[in-house]
Amino acid sequence: MKAVVIREHGGIERLEYGDVETPVPGPGEVLVRLRAAGVNHLDHDVREGVSGFPVTLPHVPGIEGSGEVAELGPGVSGTEVGARVSLNLLKSCGQCRNCLGGLDNICLNGEVLGVGMWGTFAEYVRVHERQLTAMPDALSFEAAAATHLCFSTAWHMTVTLGGVRADMDVLVNAAGSGVGSAALQIAVLHGANVIASAGSDAKLVKAKALGAADVINYSTQSLAEEAVRLTHGKGPDLVVECVGGEVLRDSITAVRSGGMLVTCGAHGGEQIELDVIELFRKHLRLQGSSLATRLEMAHVLSLVGDGKLKPVIHTTLPLEEVQQAATLIANRNFFGKMVLTV
Ligand SMILES: [Zn+2]
Repeated sequence: MKAVVIREHGGIERLEYGDVETPVPGPGEVLVRLRAAGVNHLDHDVREGVSGFPVTLPHVPGIEGSGEVAELGPGVSGTEVGARVSLNLLKSCGQCRNCLGGLDNICLNGEVLGVGMWGTFAEYVRVHERQLTAMPDALSFEAAAATHLCFSTAWHMTVTLGGVRADMDVLVNAAGSGVGSAALQIAVLHGANVIASAGSDAKLVKAKALGAADVINYSTQSLAEEAVRLTHGKGPDLVVECVGGEVLRDSITAVRSGGMLVTCGAHGGEQIELDVIELFRKHLRLQGSSLATRLEMAHVLSLVGDGKLKPVIHTTLPLEEVQQAATLIANRNFFGKMVLTV
């Protein structure tokens, strides 16, 4: 099959488009003929060898994708050849205490698609049948690949953990990112007053078009001061954060007394100083988050299929042009998602 292969860790030039052996599905697994793949920052880290996960080379990256079931391995009963499916990047075990508790997004034995197993930048991918989410008929493969990961991750943060409501002021950071643009729409869908932040005015114009009531450019304005000013001195009730570094630090300052900050990313800085007195005096809740449950993924895809949440696609490129997509990701020069068609 044709695929993007990493034979050595390094820069974007290490993404080679060529031929590799087509995987064969084992017990409980299926082979999926991919039609579209989402490009994510984790792909960049995997290529550079800084993801923090062990990666065996040669490797096919790509953590997000959609397509059709092409072949069933022994014992597969939950799907059929030709089914339109979107892929869950986490292969959860279904048996650990977190899986049994309905928290399969933090499975203790999880394997990650495109990291510990070959991923979606290919014609075919082998996944466990538990990694399949059936796609609504109205949803295109490109839309599924652009929404699956970021919308479900944002849903888990904003709704399940953040408890977003119509009477809340919600600050959404990095509103141009996949998770940010998704969280913005989800908070608006719930009737919240949304303040969007980003590092460029062009991104903020697009954030307003998605329903943000107010915007903050954290490259030129004080995020903390503006967020407090725009909430009439109170501070946001909820912050949906995925940047880290100074943006996270300023968001902790901004969040209201008794408020909550949910975070899922740290490309802007992995270490910050935390004022413990501020933490307990303000009764702050700092909540980490990663991914989403299988149920949330199915729910979010149905909302996208119904048109209630809209995929924000920056560019669609053929798989062969993966290096161009990787360059856009590296330069943060995008709003929404990059999608590769296969
Ligand atoms: Zn598990």
